[in-house]
Amino acid sequence: MNRREFIKRLGATAGIGAATACAGTSSKPVAGRVVVIGAGYSGATAAKYIRMWAPDIDVTLIERNGEFISCPISNLVLGGSKKLADITIGYGGLGKYGVKMVRDDAVAVDPVKREVRLASGAMLGYDRLIIAPGIDFNYQTIPGLNNSDAQSRVLHAWKAGTQTVALRKQLEAMRDGGVFAIHVPRTPYRCAPAPYERACQVAFYFRNSKPKSKILVLDTNDDVQSKKALFLAAWNGPYKGIVEYRPNSELLDVDANTLTAKLEFEDVRADVLNVVPPQKAGAVAERAGLITANNRWCGVDWLTMESIAQQGIHVLGDATLSAPVMPKSGHMANQHAKVCAAAVIALIKSQPVNREPVMINTCYSFVDDRNAGHVATVHVYDPAQKMMVVVKGSGGLSGKANELEGAYAMSWAQNIWADTLA
Ligand SMILES: Cc1cc2nc3c(=O)[nH]c(=O)nc-3n(C[C@H](O)[C@H](O)[C@H](O)COP(=O)(O)OP(=O)(O)OC[C@H]3O[C@@H](n4cnc5c(N)ncnc54)[C@H](O)[C@@H]3O)c2cc1C
Repeated sequence: MNRREFIKRLGATAGIGAATACAGTSSKPVAGRVVVIGAGYSGATAAKYIRMWAPDIDVTLIERNGEFISCPISNLVLGGSKKLADITIGYGGLGKYGVKMVRDDAVAVDPVKREVRLASGAMLGYDRLIIAPGIDFNYQTIPGLNNSDAQSRVLHAWKAGTQTVALRKQLEAMRDGGVFAIHVPRTPYRCAPAPYERACQVAFYFRNSKPKSKILVLDTNDDVQSKKALFLAAWNGPYKGIVEYRPNSELLDVDANTLTAKLEFEDVRADVLNVVPPQKAGAVAERAGLITANNRWCGVDWLTMESIAQQGIHVLGDATLSAPVMPKSGHMANQHAKVCAAAVIALIKSQPVNREPVMINTCYSFVDDRNAGHVATVHVYDPAQKMMVVVKGSGGLSGKANELEGAYAMSWAQNIWADTLA
């Protein structure tokens, strides 16, 4: 048995033990092998669409979590109108496309040998690798939070799941008359409007259940970063006297024992302190040598989503160095995935790559259990700049949340979950 066959067989063995979905094992020749790391908004979509558009390409999807838990809508779990079960979806739906799902942690990538090593020890060979790991947190700039004990008390809840439920429990346990403070990092971070949506959701809960309580939005940035009019309308309207917005609130450190945010110009003590830490591409991207900007993000060729640092590796979603005005959103991650899926198929089959990719984004924010507003943009490839740019006059922005858009927002969530996983 030569080395290539050995790796192939080992990869197949890794798939057997852990596979939750393994179809497409017909005897037809395989046109190529794609490995995808991360089954979130971008990775799961890419895996599904490659199999849908090219069933002769073998796709293995590696994910450390047993279920998909959506960050979009997770703020409503904090507000109390949704439960974690409402935003949790199994990966079983990918089985019908023949995606081989492996539950494991991808710990290392060898771009020269074209191999991925899993925590279980298995090695997977690939022709094309797609890395879609989302974000990791950079706690080094917040010394008091740079240990697991402090992180268990001052939560981020910026990856939906156990922390979302834990933060909700902290809010439930808080006395009426207490203070919830959320700290917002400097942009870019995952989902620009989400901290402000979270303030609205907690205000919705407080107004109904703890009316003497207050919310402080401590923002590193000098202004609300998205949907400003919509959030100000909520904070100056139904949540007047509950939400206070403080811009230019750079975080120097945190005292997790006293729940104090040490800001540049003041110390703010809270009853529940929620720090959204500065972010960077998920760790596996760094280990694969894909970071190209500010020690944080992965630059890509927007025609293929291929890394500009490593050939044969594509990067999707929040981990990428976003193009100007391109949000780090679930919707945008889904769009990256489709452009990448088409390009990977073309590259494997030596066909021309589409030179006019288009990506759209719509992001809704809820201010309570039923009223929402949106921001939307359309992005096209500019060959002169080799960059995605916003189409002039495209998209839109709601000035005020309303019930109709609340219904659209819930439909958006159901549709994108189905597009990704069903
Ligand atoms: C509170 C909140 C609200 C939001 N609301 C919206 C919204 O309304 N609309 C919207 O469009 N976006 C929203 N977002 C943003 C959206 O969640 C992200 O932009 C999106 O999840 C990015 O997709 P991704 O594929 O890059 O990463 P993710 O969806 O995070 O997926 C990454 C996956 O990779 C896995 N993974 C990472 N490393 C490894 C490894 N080494 N091995 C195996 N698996 C690995 C992770 O477990 C994860 O499942 C919100 C975010 C937050 C925090």
